[in-house]
Amino acid sequence: MYKYDKKSLIADEFINDEEIRKTLEYAEQNKNNEALIDEILEKARPYKTDKGTFCRGLDHREASVLLACEIPEKIEKMYALAEEIKKAFYGNRIVIFAPLYLSNYCVNGCVYCPYHAVNKHIPRKKLTQEEIKNEVIALQNMGHKRLAIEAGEDPVNNPLEYILESIKTIYSIKNKHGEIRRVNVNIAATDVESYRKLKEAGIGTYILFQETYHKESYLQLHPTGPKHDYNYHTEAMDRAMEGGIDDVGLGVLFGLEMYKYEFAGLLMHAEHLEAVHGVGPHTISVPRIKKADDIDPNVFDNGISDDIFAKICALIRIAVPYTGMIISTRESQAVREKVIRLGVSQISGGSRTSVGGYTEKERPHDTEQFDVSDQRTLDEVLRWLMNMGYIPSFCTACYREGRTGDRFMSLCKSGQIQNCCHPNALMTLKEFLMDYASPETVKAGEALINKELENIPKEKVKNICIENLKKIEEGIRDFRF
Ligand code: SF4
Ligand code: SF4
Repeated sequence: MYKYDKKSLIADEFINDEEIRKTLEYAEQNKNNEALIDEILEKARPYKTDKGTFCRGLDHREASVLLACEIPEKIEKMYALAEEIKKAFYGNRIVIFAPLYLSNYCVNGCVYCPYHAVNKHIPRKKLTQEEIKNEVIALQNMGHKRLAIEAGEDPVNNPLEYILESIKTIYSIKNKHGEIRRVNVNIAATDVESYRKLKEAGIGTYILFQETYHKESYLQLHPTGPKHDYNYHTEAMDRAMEGGIDDVGLGVLFGLEMYKYEFAGLLMHAEHLEAVHGVGPHTISVPRIKKADDIDPNVFDNGISDDIFAKICALIRIAVPYTGMIISTRESQAVREKVIRLGVSQISGGSRTSVGGYTEKERPHDTEQFDVSDQRTLDEVLRWLMNMGYIPSFCTACYREGRTGDRFMSLCKSGQIQNCCHPNALMTLKEFLMDYASPETVKAGEALINKELENIPKEKVKNICIENLKKIEEGIRDFRF
């Protein structure tokens, strides 16, 4: 019998089934305990000191009580608090990225993914370096600066050398004013040495979705292939950190197991990383299972409603205030609107989830990993964000200034990051307006920049930002704080 220990390096101990069950029992017993709920909400509230604004966050037990609570007024309070935290730490900025699918060859048997090895009718494709170059140019021409590369697990077709070469290719392509400034990597769990090589290749965040923290379900959902090894998969982030990658991204695929179980597991994973490595996850992604070739989401009877999904997003924001939250084009415009307000800080835009999809005129479906609900162009997504009062940001400054891991976290925790994010968002938006935007988007963007310049608190920073905006108009690029 394993015992819960967040400092342990054994998956069954830091994601401990017994502790999750006890947590869920405790949450169920206290879901109507209004005094406790108020106390938890109070603890999570942002507070100010002379050093800035801080938040304490919540542990998995406290956050699980809030998740179990169904009292409408308390849920409203949770939403209001999530919004308050979002405003305090992320302002009205939304960072933009795009996924780039390199290969859908995969030896695993994940039953919810169309790339699973036994799907014989999906065309298999792996991009050559020349094709990657063309995809990257297409992405650059849309205005993207930040990518997340995706590849199935296949040591023969997609070995690490292929991934490393692809990263090199992506960073090397400069096309007019286009360049990719940060490549995040979403590939299968691997060993410390391989993580070290990825770090040396200059990756941003290493992203690995846990899919489900429920071990028994995990084993059934991953019946074959190396991913079947639950412990190897769950302990991957520790190896990544040992290999020098200090920005890691967690995520569960909501709809595979009971959401309350997943939610507790996810927070326990975050607590574990903080306890062992002194730095929590850089991001958390919140994908929900979607329809795809050979996949019917109705087969998975743990699907969650839009309301529960919004509540989960709000509670992640409250529990881990310093962790970015990512939502993809799997979600519709309406859902995205709701959760952006509640705490999401990064979204993808103009995405194609097929291998080689960006160079195709029409959106191809044959090699798609999942159905894209939000099919708008990047220009449309940006205009939509701006019309809602958000500043789309292509900022990649922290990673390029070496502000990763605990350096990033300590800046973030002291609220200092705010002095960089806001002007960086405006300058990178200006680049987009100059190089890629439609006239309508330019109009909305210029008005927003003028308005938001007034919200830069430090006069000195504001003046530098105004200078840089002028230089961007003159054709110079890549300014950052
Ligand atoms: S989820 Fe990843 S590992 Fe599993 S089949 Fe799909 S591509 Fe392969
Ligand atoms: S300054 Fe850092 S934290 Fe802020 S948006 Fe840019 S990369 Fe992100």
